[in-house]
Amino acid sequence: RAKAQSRNSYQVHHSDPQPEALGRLTLESRLRRAIEQDQLQVLYQPQWDINGQKIVGAEALVRWDPSSPESFSPEQFIPLAEETGLILPLGEWVLRRACAEAQRWRTQGWPEITVAVNLSMRQFQQQDMVTRLKSILAETQLPAAALEVEITETTAAKDFEQTLEILRRLYHLGVKLAIDDFGTGYSSISYLKRFPLHKLKIDRSFIRDLNTTMVPLSRYEKSDIAVVAAIIDLGHSLDLRVAAEGVETLSQLDILQNLKCDEVQGFLLGRPVTATDFLQQLREHA
Ligand code: C2E
Ligand code: MG
Ligand code: MG
Ligand code: MG
Repeated sequence: RAKAQSRNSYQVHHSDPQPEALGRLTLESRLRRAIEQDQLQVLYQPQWDINGQKIVGAEALVRWDPSSPESFSPEQFIPLAEETGLILPLGEWVLRRACAEAQRWRTQGWPEITVAVNLSMRQFQQQDMVTRLKSILAETQLPAAALEVEITETTAAKDFEQTLEILRRLYHLGVKLAIDDFGTGYSSISYLKRFPLHKLKIDRSFIRDLNTTMVPLSRYEKSDIAVVAAIIDLGHSLDLRVAAEGVETLSQLDILQNLKCDEVQGFLLGRPVTATDFLQQLREHA
């Protein structure tokens, strides 16, 4: 009986694809089509100096045609794109787009603005990644120093020697290097010390947990601030700039200012917007 049942369930499994598998296939073919048909868009989220005095850069964030009911959030489709390899054409498209826009901002009167682009693990480890990136810079005429590359701690910690080699080559090109979502992965401090880096971006989960007051109400609230303070000090002791992402409230900003964080990014200061709207914001805050 048990045998019959297991045979049955095996058959059911085969004739009737699992809903997630079906969903994944659909998602994959839609994503493939979206890339081919130019249904992707790049938005730019302003990055501010800690005093909220000026915009210092923007992070490029890919969007899948938000008007389409078929669209998915990057948190859904980036991991899939990574698994299927679609991240390579997708990531290169975002990089080229972002570099071209940044060069446009520069020539329109903002030569100091940098653009930050997320590189996924697979893209970062691609054999000819540095060569490709170099030719995109040449093609768009963007100076290397105006480009910041973000990799996650997990990407950085994957293969120390390989990461070190790639980061060194990027560093020598003059590209800025940032560790994204810092605090959520497993990078060791000795790695951080040996990588040529410019910036740590504290993951937004830590910022979300920052409390509304500097006065600790309980030891838990105190420890939230203490953790962020420790990350900022660690960054500074390694000679890195420290940025906070996901800043949504004035009190979070206030705490980050007190802790001497260097840059902030989040809904409080600006949501991701189109390249044209970003340029408009630069004009408004000039
Ligand atoms: P990330 O690089 O850590 O990007 C920050 C994410 O936080 C973005 O989500 C942004 O919209 C969101 N965010 C910014 N400020 C706030 C805030 O104040 N509150 C809240 N709740 N969220 C905020 P998004 O655009 O959905 O992107 C999610 C992730 O997808 C990114 O995380 C990044 O890992 C990945 N991603 C996005 N675009 C690309 C891309 O072009 N290439 C690659 N490889 N990954 C990308
Ligand atoms: Mg990022
Ligand atoms: Mg991040
Ligand atoms: Mg993130």
